[in-house]
Amino acid sequence: MTLETIVPREVPLGGPRAMTVRRTLPTRSRTLVGPWCFVDHYGPDAVTSTGGMVVPPHPHTGLQTVSWLFEGEIEHRDTTGAHGLVRPGEVNLMTAGHGVAHSEVSTPSTRTLHGVQLWLALPDASRDVAPAFEHHVPDLVERGGLTLRVLAGSYAGSTSPVRTYAPTLGVEVVVRPGARVALELDPAYEHALLVDRGPVAVDGASLAVGDLGYAAPGGDGLELVDVSGAGARVLLLGGAPFGEEILMWWNFVARTHDEIVAQRTAWQSRSPRFGDVAGYVGDPSWLPAPELPHARLRPRPNAPAGPRT
Ligand code: MN
Repeated sequence: MTLETIVPREVPLGGPRAMTVRRTLPTRSRTLVGPWCFVDHYGPDAVTSTGGMVVPPHPHTGLQTVSWLFEGEIEHRDTTGAHGLVRPGEVNLMTAGHGVAHSEVSTPSTRTLHGVQLWLALPDASRDVAPAFEHHVPDLVERGGLTLRVLAGSYAGSTSPVRTYAPTLGVEVVVRPGARVALELDPAYEHALLVDRGPVAVDGASLAVGDLGYAAPGGDGLELVDVSGAGARVLLLGGAPFGEEILMWWNFVARTHDEIVAQRTAWQSRSPRFGDVAGYVGDPSWLPAPELPHARLRPRPNAPAGPRT
C-alpha cells in the first residue's frame, strides 16, 4: 500500500504559558482522515522546562475531543459538570455538539507530559447534540508481537463503548522490539498511523517519530516493522471517508462563516450556550477568541480519499 507521509509542524498550544505540540491534522494536503480532523502529539516533555499544560476554559462546537496520555496526568473540567483526571491508558471523550467549554491543566505531580489530543468532526445530522463526557479504560489485547488498546470503534475483537457519530477507529498499537507484524484494516475505511515511538516501516515506507502516514481505503492490511529495535508505538486512526466539507476555525467545527461568527460572539459574550467551567482557578479565567480574519471563512475541501500524486 502506498502511504502519504504528513510531517508534523510545531505549534504553540493556546494559553499564556504555551507548551509546543506537533500537529499533523489539519494540514495543507489533508483536512480529515475518516472523521478525525485534528491530531496534536506532544512530549515526552519535562514539565519543568515547558511549564506543562495550562489551558484555561475555552469553547468547542461541532466536534468530539479525544484525550490519550502515554505519561503524566491532566485535570479536566467542563461545563457538563465533568471533573476528572486524564491518565495514561484511559480514554476521555468529550462531545461538544451544540457547545461546551473545558479546561485542561497538568497536575502538580506530573514531571513528564506525553500524549495526544485528537478531534472527531461531528456529521451534520449530529453536530448540534447536547454536550457529554465519557471515560473508558480499554482492555489490553495481546496478539503476535502486538499489544493493543481500542480507544474508539472496534478492532481485534475489542470494542470501545464511547459514543461516536460516524464510523470511527482509534487504537493504540505497541510493537515488541524488532517485531514485524501485520495490521488488519477495514477496506471501507481510510487510515492514518501516528508514530509515537519509532521509527517504523509501514509496507516498506519509513515513518519517523511524529509523522502521520495516511493510507487510502481499499487495503485490507499493512505490515508494520519496528525499525528502531527498541519497541515501537503508533496510534491507528481510521474511519469511513467523511463525505462532508467542514469549516474549522479556532476551537469550532462548523459549516459556514456565519455559524462561526455566531459561535465566537456567544463565547465572547459569555453566553449560556457554553456556560461556566466550575472550579477552575487560574488567571486568565477564560481564553478569549482570536479576531476573525477580514475575509469570509470557507469550508476546506477534503483531499481525495487516496494518495496525492
Ligand atoms: Mn479543548
